[in-house]
Amino acid sequence: MAVDVRSENMRDCARRAASGRSGERPGQPGSPLSGAFTLEGLLRCRGCGASLQPVRMLGHRAYRGPCGWRLTAVDADDLEQLVLEAVAAPAPRLVADAAPEELGRIFRRLFVAVRVGGCAQDLSIVWRL
Ligand SMILES: [Zn+2]
Repeated sequence: MAVDVRSENMRDCARRAASGRSGERPGQPGSPLSGAFTLEGLLRCRGCGASLQPVRMLGHRAYRGPCGWRLTAVDADDLEQLVLEAVAAPAPRLVADAAPEELGRIFRRLFVAVRVGGCAQDLSIVWRL
């Protein structure tokens, strides 16, 4: 039963990712976000609360948790872009010219944690304020 729920969730995520965001993201291979893991230490599994660790897979950056809630690692670029947008909406100047290292510090000041479900789109931010 648990497997059914999870695969349903994954399909839903894939559908949302495909329908909602294609073309929206400025695909920049050399973007400043491609190096650092700006959400390191902030990500938690929504299901069990385990912290997600940064990993590199075939040159791809991702975050991965050791629990059974996630079938695959969550793409780091997607996740960081979504979090960045969540900050930029209310406070664009705060993150406008921030380097990746600065972004990491800014995120840690703003958030208690970022909880992630089955995919990058399925996240909720726990703000400090
Ligand atoms: Zn978990």
